[in-house]
Amino acid sequence: MDYKAILEKVYNQVSKQEDKGALASYIPELARVDPLQFAVHVSNISGDSFGLGDIQTKFSIQSMAKVLSFCLAYKTLGESIWKRLGVEPSGNAFNSLVQLENDQGIPRNPFINAGAIVIADILISQFEDPSQALLDFIRSLSPNQDIAFSNTIFESEKNHGFRNIALCNFIKSFNNLDNEPEEVLDFYFKLCSLEMSCTQLSGVYLFLANNGKALHNNQTIISKSQSKRINALMQTCGFYDESGEFAFKVGLPGKSGVGGGIIAIHPNQYAIAVWSPKLNKKGNSFKGMLFLEQFTTASELSIF
Ligand code: GLU
Repeated sequence: MDYKAILEKVYNQVSKQEDKGALASYIPELARVDPLQFAVHVSNISGDSFGLGDIQTKFSIQSMAKVLSFCLAYKTLGESIWKRLGVEPSGNAFNSLVQLENDQGIPRNPFINAGAIVIADILISQFEDPSQALLDFIRSLSPNQDIAFSNTIFESEKNHGFRNIALCNFIKSFNNLDNEPEEVLDFYFKLCSLEMSCTQLSGVYLFLANNGKALHNNQTIISKSQSKRINALMQTCGFYDESGEFAFKVGLPGKSGVGGGIIAIHPNQYAIAVWSPKLNKKGNSFKGMLFLEQFTTASELSIF
């Protein structure tokens, strides 16, 4: 497949389409981003990569980071992790307190906020310096070492994170948190503050297209079975309450974030990162969704 030509055609097509989305506004930093930026970058398992637009610009990857913290926790704990959280799509808002009450403090999956908070708690118990351990883990996934947290985003998340504070305390009340809520929240907010460019993202997530192995050094990051399971979770739970729609229109596992980024994986083929900051009503990048829908349609390749 001449994916470069297809990518270029679809990029130009979507660039011209009206963006009906809106910037995330729950923290001032995200509302200040230039809304016209648009980037796509693909890395494939043959070692080839290609991108268009603002591919070197770093942005707030937000909930896309939940996949990476989950991978590190899953790699460390193995299957015993499922005592602490489930694998079902939430069918509810990603920050729902009601669902957590019904589920007795066991989050539905690792990609809703409650699930990512439990994962943060697990990593704090496993590592002396969990932030550094997470950074080291992420830096081991691709040759790119220039990946860091943003202190401004971290502070802002912390100052505006009232619902996350509520969720974390709620989990503690159900005895599904081993550490103190303040410490867990600090690490959770740090996770949300990670910044990467589309070029970096497609390289970092490529191991999920490569059966759990990092392509640059052939190191096993997670097992083949864990990689399959994480792709399954992204497929069913990666797009808030729009995961069904993404599967329906795009047909690839993926994960989005409120910074307007989306990573999608074609197992045994490629990882593709798209970024356009304005979000649709469900909190996913408006143009990012359009781009991936048109890209998988034009390339006639999806997992289905
Ligand atoms: N920092 C956001 C929150 O916890 C993450 C939102 C997202 O990307 O889903 O609410």
